[in-house]
Amino acid sequence: MEERKLELQAVAKVNLGLDVLRRREDGYHELRMIMQSIRLHDRITLERMDSAGITLQTNLGDLPVDEGNLAYRAAKLLMEECRVGEGLRIGLEKHIPVAAGLAGGSSDAAAVLVGVNRMFALGFSQEELMARAVKIGADVPYCVMRGTALAEGIGDRLTVLPDAPDLHVVLAKPPIAVSTAFVYGNLKADKLAVHPDIDAQVQAIRAGDARRMAELMGNVLETVTIPACPVIAQIKERMLRAGALNAMMSGSGPTVFGLFEEEEKARRSYEELSRGDLAGNVFLTGFFHNREKG
Ligand code: ATP
Repeated sequence: MEERKLELQAVAKVNLGLDVLRRREDGYHELRMIMQSIRLHDRITLERMDSAGITLQTNLGDLPVDEGNLAYRAAKLLMEECRVGEGLRIGLEKHIPVAAGLAGGSSDAAAVLVGVNRMFALGFSQEELMARAVKIGADVPYCVMRGTALAEGIGDRLTVLPDAPDLHVVLAKPPIAVSTAFVYGNLKADKLAVHPDIDAQVQAIRAGDARRMAELMGNVLETVTIPACPVIAQIKERMLRAGALNAMMSGSGPTVFGLFEEEEKARRSYEELSRGDLAGNVFLTGFFHNREKG
């Protein structure tokens, strides 16, 4: 049935492991990453309008409200392809920090693809949506799928994994901007001394071994960001001292996340970081699993 109004959650992600194998001739990097959705999310409202055209409103004044916004671009892509004559109003309530390594924009785009497909009864399967999602960004197909996954190639070749063992997650974003282009531009992909063992981490997830999974966390992009922004290492250190199984930067940063077995320790780490001045945004959250899909 076609619906007039839809409310969606666009969940953020962290990378439990991030390896770069090489820089390709076309400038893209060949990656191996373990992706994990977390419960921190943006709220998106879609409303059908009688007159044609897409409009977008958001609570963040400095985000674009036209094609510069990935949520707008996602709606336009599907609606043009399917020649939808009606209009669409998109309400975007941001909670995921922007340019933080948490795939907030990609997740907004993915949620809009899923929502527009449902709202206008376009009939695309999840695979068909994912094939279109990659035109918006390399992480968007994963954001359509969500959950725990191995991402290869430029991030768009996906293998579904069983749900990672449940842990408490503290996220802390230092008040600095690190552009993805700067990070990849300064990465010496062929001179990396240490690579995370992604295959072993996949095995640990399959075995449901939370400690081993956490022990194997590694992100080669820290070789660029930590020398440039030592606050990232300071936040990791704080989380480890508070009892995290492990702590690492997500994606190209600068957000750091810590994984905790005990809720009490996670809460204390969250409170300590919220009081201090290392991080501007701090969240206490957990893994999002697909069975929670609404
Ligand atoms: P990734 O982990 O995929 O690198 P990120 O979390 O680092 O993503 P985003 O928050 O997705 O980065 O967005 C980065 C840029 O994209 C910002 O400069 C922002 O202006 C632009 N952008 C476009 N649409 C959105 C959106 N819906 N939400 C957030 N940023 C958006």
